Amino acid sequence: MANRIASLPEHLDVAIVGGGPVGAALALSLQGQGLIVGVFEARASLPSQDPRALALSWGSVQTLQGLDVWHPIPQATAIETVHVSQRQGFGHATLSHTELDVPALGYVVNYGDLAGALNAALAAAPIHFHTGVQLDMVKPLAGYVALRLNQGHVQKLVTASLLVVADGGKGLTELPGIERRHQDYGQHAVVCDVRTDQPQQHIAYERFSDDGPMALLPRGEGYALVWTCRSEAVEACLALSDTAFLTQLQARFGNRAGQFVSVGARAAFPLALRRLVSPISVRTVLIGNAAQVLHPVAGQGFNLGLRDAMALAKVVKESKRDELGSRNMLNRYAKRRALDATSTTAFTDGLIKLFAMPGSAASTARGSGLALLDMVPAARKRLTQHMVFGAGI
Ligand SMILES: Cc1cc2nc3c(=O)[nH]c(=O)nc-3n(C[C@H](O)[C@H](O)[C@H](O)COP(=O)(O)OP(=O)(O)OC[C@H]3O[C@@H](n4cnc5c(N)ncnc54)[C@H](O)[C@@H]3O)c2cc1C
Repeated sequence: MANRIASLPEHLDVAIVGGGPVGAALALSLQGQGLIVGVFEARASLPSQDPRALALSWGSVQTLQGLDVWHPIPQATAIETVHVSQRQGFGHATLSHTELDVPALGYVVNYGDLAGALNAALAAAPIHFHTGVQLDMVKPLAGYVALRLNQGHVQKLVTASLLVVADGGKGLTELPGIERRHQDYGQHAVVCDVRTDQPQQHIAYERFSDDGPMALLPRGEGYALVWTCRSEAVEACLALSDTAFLTQLQARFGNRAGQFVSVGARAAFPLALRRLVSPISVRTVLIGNAAQVLHPVAGQGFNLGLRDAMALAKVVKESKRDELGSRNMLNRYAKRRALDATSTTAFTDGLIKLFAMPGSAASTARGSGLALLDMVPAARKRLTQHMVFGAGI
C-alpha cells in the first residue's frame, strides 16, 4: 500500500507502533480476517547496516516459514550444536539438534536481512504500512485509542480499537498505566564478524567468564561474535588494533574453534534487563522488546518477542471484532504469555548472575552443573526444548 498517511482510514482495528521484526511479524499474521491494520514505523529506511546477528530458534524459523518470509532471507546459517563452557573452570555441556529430532536448533541471520524480508512482505500485503512516521500524541480512552501521526509535513489523527506497542522499548516510554523495571548490567556487547583457521562446523559457542559472557555464532563461512565487556572497558575494546583484539579473544575463548585469524568492523550495544509489571493497559498491549529486553548472550530476545506476536495474533483471531482492545481480550493475552515471559527472562538473567559469581566454590558448582547437564539426557532435552520453543505454549 502507498506510504502516505493522508490515505489512512479514520479508524483502524489494530494500530501497531514499530515496524521492527516483532511488529512486522504480528501485522503479517493478522492477515485474512478482514481487519484494518496499520503499522507505523519511525525509520524512513531499512536498518540494513545493523551489525547484529540474531540466533533464531527452530520454533521461530517455523513461524517465519508460516509467514512466507523465511526463504527471502539470505545467508541463514544452521546451528546444529550449542556448546556451553566457562573460562577458568571445568565442565561443559553440549546441546544437539538430535535431542529434539529437529533439522537444526536454529539459524543465524542478520538483523537487517530479517527486517528487510519482513518489510518487503508488509509492503506487498493489504496492510497500511507507513515509514518515516512520528507520533506526537497517544491517548488511550475507554472505547478506542487516539493517535496523532506525523509524516514529513503531513499530520493525521486516527483512532484504533487496539494499540500494539512494538517500538523496541525506545519510543513510547511514557504510556499511561505501564510500569517499567530497569536493571543496568553495567556491560556492553561488542559485536563483529570473526574468522578462524578452520571452517565453522555449525556449532554455537556460549562461553562464560567473570568479565561477562561471550557467544560465537556460526555465520556464513565464519562466526558472528557477541563479546560482553564491562561498560567502562568498552571504548578501549573498540579501539584495540585487530591484532590485539584477536589475541585477547583467543586468550578468553581458547582454541576450541581454532586460531582466530581476522576480525571485521566492531560495534557496541549497552546491555540492561528491562521488564514491565504488566504488558497491558487501557486498549494497549506491549510486545517484543517493548515488553522485555534481555541480555543477548542466550539469544532469546527476538525469539521471545516473536512468541508474543504469535500469541497476540491468536487471541485476536479468537476475539470478535468489537472485543478488540477490551479488558477481557487483553487479560487473555497477558495470562497466556505470563509463564513464557517470566521463565525466559529469569533463565537468561539467572545465567548471567550465576556465571558472574566470583570464587572457586561457585566455579566448582557451575562446573558440576554443566557436567551433570551433559550427562543427563532428560535435563538436556528439557533445556533444549525451552530454548527452541519457549515455555508453556
Ligand atoms: C547485540 C545483540 C544481539 C542479539 N542477539 C539476539 C539473538 O541472537 N537472538 C535473539 O532472539 N535476540 C537477540 N537480540 C535481541 C533482538 O535484537 C531483539 O529482541 C529484537 O530486535 C526485538 O525486536 P522488536 O521488533 O521488538 O524491537 P526492535 O528490533 O528494536 O524494533 C523496534 C522498531 O520500532 C521502531 N520505533 C521505535 N520507536 C518508534 C516510534 N515512536 N514510532 C514508530 N516506530 C518506532 C524502530 O525504528 C524499530 O524499527 C540481540 C540484541 C542485541 C543488542
